[in-house]
Amino acid sequence: MSDYIIRATDANHQVRIFAATTKELVETAREDHQTSPVVTAALGRLLTAGAMMGLMLKGEKDKLTLQIKCDGPISGLTVTADSKAFVKGYVNNPQVMLPPSKAGKLDVGRALGQGVLSVIKDMGLKEPYAGQTHLVSGEIAEDLTYYFTASEQVNSSVALGVLMEKNNTVKQAGGFIIQVMPSAKEEVISKIEDNLKDIHSITSLLEEGYTPEAVIKRVLNGLEIEMLDQVPTRFYCDCSKEKIEKVLISMGDQEIKAMIEDKEPVEVQCHFCNKDYTFQTDELVKLLKYL
Ligand code: ZN
Repeated sequence: MSDYIIRATDANHQVRIFAATTKELVETAREDHQTSPVVTAALGRLLTAGAMMGLMLKGEKDKLTLQIKCDGPISGLTVTADSKAFVKGYVNNPQVMLPPSKAGKLDVGRALGQGVLSVIKDMGLKEPYAGQTHLVSGEIAEDLTYYFTASEQVNSSVALGVLMEKNNTVKQAGGFIIQVMPSAKEEVISKIEDNLKDIHSITSLLEEGYTPEAVIKRVLNGLEIEMLDQVPTRFYCDCSKEKIEKVLISMGDQEIKAMIEDKEPVEVQCHFCNKDYTFQTDELVKLLKYL
């Protein structure tokens, strides 16, 4: 397992930064969902962001959901992360094909189109925290940058990238999120802005062999850096037959009775990892007692 996230700050705690390499994680998502290249890029970017934002959660049991509802052909994406940087996710239409953008890139912005990004933090309270912003470009990193500024009032810079091999497997994936504290001095901000100007893209750095630590040193060049910790990250689905049973039960007794009358085993697929769960008729009958 080579994917991990580094969390760091500058010595005066005026900025914090997360940098991630997520190739294996995004490749697992691609295999599970059989996504087309543009969808792999879209889902991979959101998963990478989710993994880093999971580490921002304060409580160990807190959960984060990033959801995009959009009018482009992909139609929607959902990513859920926990505080240990385990993430899972799915898209509504995994097989979207589009010509490359004018810059010759995978056209994630067009795959998403216009829409809304929701960030839902479940902190074990009655009402989860939810923030919502409109998509700015549909390229996801810019949309999250805007979200942090508009909804959480934290000036941030988000970079996310997925690069594909010729055979459409994942060659590189990763990203970083910089957040500037309100106390940050103007000179610190302008130093970071200058550093960011010479970075073409996160995937180009990864291609040059940059590790997340090296990415942080480049982005915070000229500041004293304090590396805080290294956290492994991966695509992980916590689905189980019991959880899928709960989904079936929530469909109500009429639905379950209809399935029982069919006398055929019922196949239910987990949205997040595409794993199949089969329920025989006698198992369905047992579910009725919960209704
Ligand atoms: Zn699953």
